[in-house]
Amino acid sequence: MNAHDSEKVVGTLLHEGYNQVATPEQANYIFYNTCSIRDKAEQKVFNKLQHFKNSGKGKVIALLGCVAQQEGAKIFDRAPHVSLVAGSASYAKLPEMLVQIESGNRRVTGLDFDTPEAFDTPYTRRDNPFRTFITIIEGCDKACAYCVVPFTRGPERSRTAESILDEARRLADSGITEVTLLGQNVNSYRDPSASKWDFARLLDEVGRIPGFRRVRFTTSHPRDFVKPIIDAIDDNPNLCNHVHLPVQSGSSRVLEGMRRLYTRDQYMERIDWMKNANRDIAITTDLIVGFPGETEREFEETLELMEEVEYDAIFAFKYSPRPNTSALAMGDHIPDEEKTRRIVIVNELQRAIQIRRHSELIGNVEEVHVEGRHESLQQWMGKTSQNRTLNFSGRDAEALSGSYVPVRVTRGGPNSLVGEALSVN
Ligand code: SF4
Repeated sequence: MNAHDSEKVVGTLLHEGYNQVATPEQANYIFYNTCSIRDKAEQKVFNKLQHFKNSGKGKVIALLGCVAQQEGAKIFDRAPHVSLVAGSASYAKLPEMLVQIESGNRRVTGLDFDTPEAFDTPYTRRDNPFRTFITIIEGCDKACAYCVVPFTRGPERSRTAESILDEARRLADSGITEVTLLGQNVNSYRDPSASKWDFARLLDEVGRIPGFRRVRFTTSHPRDFVKPIIDAIDDNPNLCNHVHLPVQSGSSRVLEGMRRLYTRDQYMERIDWMKNANRDIAITTDLIVGFPGETEREFEETLELMEEVEYDAIFAFKYSPRPNTSALAMGDHIPDEEKTRRIVIVNELQRAIQIRRHSELIGNVEEVHVEGRHESLQQWMGKTSQNRTLNFSGRDAEALSGSYVPVRVTRGGPNSLVGEALSVN
């Protein structure tokens, strides 16, 4: 989502006549887009700002993204060399804010959420000619106890289906064949216009746009994940057979503490829909270990759930207390060493699951959307519909990037597959 936001910023400024340069040293203006999902990410921001202070004399430094939204004008106290602080809902106003700076205003902020222009992306600068993102919903109305997003990205705002389909058709006409529909809770989507389309309907319609061959979506919230989404994937081969469904914990008690709005059984019901689908749907997830009060037994419930689901990939994090969140009041009693022990166990288990899952694919033919070439390995690399990385040989240095190639899987490692190309489409 942040990468796509940066594309919006670049496109907006290029449209205004600014030029993009290759390095911060060459720039008059530095825009630094940030993440505050974990404390570590936020610390990096301030380290980097210090670096800009030392190397960026005479330049205008702008802080964008979630750290900007979260800290607001306080940034100017902590980093007085910053001139502009703006959250993601204000990017369409950046040219206006730059005019203020150019007129001598030393400190400018853009922190409002009531800016529908956040979706208005006619100037987005998309560098990849084959794959891209489309934002369909911004913000979040949930209130997970550990999460800063409702504070940094504001309340949920869905974009009209008409505007999404217009943008999608333009992208298909320009040669894009793969899109990812983006939203913090992508499946909470509800068309604000009279049609009132839900997410499953929108997903299906985007998947039917001529020219698109792969449509993905991220990230889904389990409570709003309904069976028609799986039915749409079953019915429409252009929808990728991959669902990222963050579970966060395998313990219903911890899930309640996290205010995730579902139980372990309700989550597993959604997993059953996927496992019983006609297509072989890859399932990935996010996990937090060491949430306040998580007992050893509750941690083991997460491990048991991982074994039961057999995820295709996970993103596991140690709980990190964040400002403004309700979990702050619960303390952070689990020592960091214990969180580390738990995350190591989680990652080791997942590694074993992935080795097992990948070995089952040896001999299969998978369609790979080619992303580029590892010259050192003399291999092409790309992604399958299930979002697995597949590196392959068997093709000379033809311009394969962006094409779809059938590849027979010959080996499986923990994080990727290796194969031999059969023929070029
Ligand atoms: S659903 Fe929960 S974890 Fe996801 S963005 Fe909203 S508050 Fe954060």
